[in-house]
Amino acid sequence: MVAPNQQSISIAIIGGGPGGLGTAIALSALPFVSVTLYEQAPEPREVGAGLSIGRNAWNVLNLLGAAERVRGGKLGTSWQRNGRTGEVVHTDASHATPAEEKKDEAKQEEEDPRFASIRARRTRLQAALLDKVPDGTIQFGKKLAEIWDLGEGKGVKLRFQDGMETTADFVVGADGIRSIVRRTIFPDHHLHVTGNTAFRVLIPLSSIAHVKDFPAENGWWHGLNGHIYFAPVDDDSEIQDKDESQLFEITVRSYNEPISPDRTATWAVPIMNEKVLARTAEYEARIQSVLRAVPEGSWREFAMVAGPCLAEITAWDKVALIGDASHPLSGAFGSGAAFAMEDGWILARALEREYSRNGNGSLSMAAKATAIRNALRIFQVIRGPYYERMYDFLASREKHSQGTRKEDDVDFGSIIKARVAGLGFVAGGKMDWIYKNDIEQVWKEYVAGEQVARL
Ligand SMILES: Cc1cc2nc3c(=O)[nH]c(=O)nc-3n(C[C@H](O)[C@H](O)[C@H](O)COP(=O)(O)OP(=O)(O)OC[C@H]3O[C@@H](n4cnc5c(N)ncnc54)[C@H](O)[C@@H]3O)c2cc1C
Repeated sequence: MVAPNQQSISIAIIGGGPGGLGTAIALSALPFVSVTLYEQAPEPREVGAGLSIGRNAWNVLNLLGAAERVRGGKLGTSWQRNGRTGEVVHTDASHATPAEEKKDEAKQEEEDPRFASIRARRTRLQAALLDKVPDGTIQFGKKLAEIWDLGEGKGVKLRFQDGMETTADFVVGADGIRSIVRRTIFPDHHLHVTGNTAFRVLIPLSSIAHVKDFPAENGWWHGLNGHIYFAPVDDDSEIQDKDESQLFEITVRSYNEPISPDRTATWAVPIMNEKVLARTAEYEARIQSVLRAVPEGSWREFAMVAGPCLAEITAWDKVALIGDASHPLSGAFGSGAAFAMEDGWILARALEREYSRNGNGSLSMAAKATAIRNALRIFQVIRGPYYERMYDFLASREKHSQGTRKEDDVDFGSIIKARVAGLGFVAGGKMDWIYKNDIEQVWKEYVAGEQVARL
């Protein structure tokens, strides 16, 4: 990397989640930029429990050079169950490794078992990404308070809560679902509390060993107005004494929590066990035993917020929104970390392409501004429609699930079967555009399309 100079493009990334860290890695590899990432937390930390790493995430982690250190529990075959009876309603082998799936030989060669879907501790993904961000890039304890446009060719001014001010040619808003960058550039875009709440915890697997016949595997148990998700989050190889320290994730989802204005602040808030137990009384006996094994004070509550699809995810010809900041989908698809990292990687490719077109070495202020503006257009063209497609998909799924939460005239088993049938992610192959997205291929197709358009 060359030392930053007047010709280099100065980039400020706001937020050090998977999106901000992935973007910092991808952009720092370009020799003509100087990157600073500002994170509000005083030190690296990650709230939440586990997260799924599917083929789409592996693809981008490989491109970022960060795949090696990410480890977790293999998702293997997953189950959808009736939460009251435990009856298996659907079995999904799409996350299984080729051997588990007993695929034909040709297919086995195609798929690399190293990149089978896993459920990982969030901290492991964060540590793997942090490891690849060049030293000196991140400033912790910097909460962005305000940004404003300095005018054409003059970059963006940033002011942080501690009073520090700086400028940058280009700003990447990677500051999550409640993004201040998004609120500044699109003040008419508003989030709402959805009423859908997640209660999450990681507990030692050993603490539920006494629960007879409980399948401590990747699976969903459905209730009338919610579901419970279970998953081991550790790979056997990294656990010295499996019974002592292997962790197990529990997420209880409640779809219809009462909405009061103060609920917008409810994110990773410690709650008492009683609150979770009050919402899970309908589940069968094994689930009750597992929930009662959670140590008091371990649960965290996440009140989901969501917002409409943004038509534009760039602004001022010098700001890009990525990850949750660009598409407040409220954790839908369970793949938001991959989306965020994909955004960052595409942004880097677009900037690289436009820089090389506009001078490659000695950029005037005007040429720099042109390269950034054109890169943002490419970013919008590639990622905007992708997010629109997600919103369209969710709208159609919501329509379907509304009919699966009433017990008036249909028995519970039928309600759950209908709901599970409507979950797009279990419909073999239909969701490959998300879970198998190959972002490098997406980029190649964009470049090929651009060349054809020029002929
Ligand atoms: C219940 C739940 C389950 C989920 N499960 C999965 C899953 O299985 N797999 C998956 O891939 N995704 C999952 N997601 C989604 C995933 O967590 C997000 O999509 C992902 O973390 C988005 O990454 P990001 O970098 O865009 O934002 P975030 O991870 O939210 O990071 C934003 C960062 O910006 C910082 N920040 C915020 N404001 C400021 C400011 N003003 N100044 C400086 N820094 C700031 C924050 O401290 C934070 O570090 C889930 C989400 C939820 C809620």
